[in-house]
Amino acid sequence: MPYLSFRNVGKTFAGTVKAVNDFTLEIGEGELVTLVGPSGCGKSTLLRLTAGLEDLTTGEILLAGKPVHHLPPGRRDMAMMFQDYALFPHMTVEENMGFGLRMRGHAKREVSESVRETAASLGLGDLLARFPSELSGGQRQRTALGRAILRRPRVFLMDEPLSNLDAELRQRMRVELKELHGRLKTTMLFVTHDQSEAMTLGDRIVVLRDGTIQQVDTPLRLYNKPENEFVAGFFGSPGMNLLPGHVEKDDGGLWFRGAGFRVRIATGEATLRDASGAEVVEVTLGVRPEGFTHKDESVTREGEGIEGRVRLWEQMGSHLLLYLRCGSAEVVARMESGWESAAIPHVGEALRLSIDMAQAHFFAKKTGMRLTLTTAVAS
Ligand code: ATP
Repeated sequence: MPYLSFRNVGKTFAGTVKAVNDFTLEIGEGELVTLVGPSGCGKSTLLRLTAGLEDLTTGEILLAGKPVHHLPPGRRDMAMMFQDYALFPHMTVEENMGFGLRMRGHAKREVSESVRETAASLGLGDLLARFPSELSGGQRQRTALGRAILRRPRVFLMDEPLSNLDAELRQRMRVELKELHGRLKTTMLFVTHDQSEAMTLGDRIVVLRDGTIQQVDTPLRLYNKPENEFVAGFFGSPGMNLLPGHVEKDDGGLWFRGAGFRVRIATGEATLRDASGAEVVEVTLGVRPEGFTHKDESVTREGEGIEGRVRLWEQMGSHLLLYLRCGSAEVVARMESGWESAAIPHVGEALRLSIDMAQAHFFAKKTGMRLTLTTAVAS
């Protein structure tokens, strides 16, 4: 049974700004769902609607089967955490963490015990007497987290809580949050604009664009089977190469013709079709940087790859990133191995890379939606 449900939730500001549009989603109890999308796509608004800090324009929000969207924030039993930790500067870590419990009238001794236990689990056991100004960013973040945990909410709502931290701390806190969620098993909705944070934290990811859901899926399925060009381009670092072109049938197969190159998609009778089953010719070919392999020009047959000139390469240690100009397109390829330093191509050199068609994606140029390759079954 769904625990937190959104049914056709919409929010329009000032009668014209559609921040959230027909948002429908069901979250299971104990699930950690990340909500990701570019700036202005409606992430914070959705979280604020859930917390009760904004009123819905349309739709409803249910918690454990009961509508909560008409309740004031205090009666929804959800704890919200923002990027600024909003700790009270004149209170110690202990006082900050126990604030909510004290306000709810819990006995002093009980508050103290709960705070100590939670502080120890967050690595703050020795810092209880310190003031926020005497803490590092990560320690402040953990104090705010402790305060939220102690409320024992039914749902955690987190709005980019890690974005004020430096890269290393952010990475560490991400792991700690994931571990913490594993222990507490409290339902969590986590907002971020960072695709790698969304991928590593979420059991499922909701991708939002202009207030509208683009795809809801597990991190791996989003990466391997993006439903549209936007999702394809959003995940991955560097992102997927999106090359415009069209398909043509020739030489007993289906080919993709891009700017200055042609690659074979399939042999025999094959077509690219959209969800309605219609055949599509004007398409975008999507190849992730790791979807290329390098082959010596002499062994690369026509239809196996894409040729370009090396603009730049970056040595990343575990791999090499090659930036190529292919006709009017820019391509980034990730090369795992097989490069002796002497063999790394020079800037300006021509290079042919083959594309692993099993890893290639196709989208309709007109709609951006994913296409399926269908091949005729021999009778
Ligand atoms: P960011 O990542 O930059 O925080 P976001 O995805 O959280 O962005 P929201 O803050 O939810 O985006 O805003 C969604 C849209 O609603 C934006 O176009 C924003 O300008 C608009 N918006 C948000 N709050 C208001 C408001 N109070 N009045 C009018 N428009 C608003």
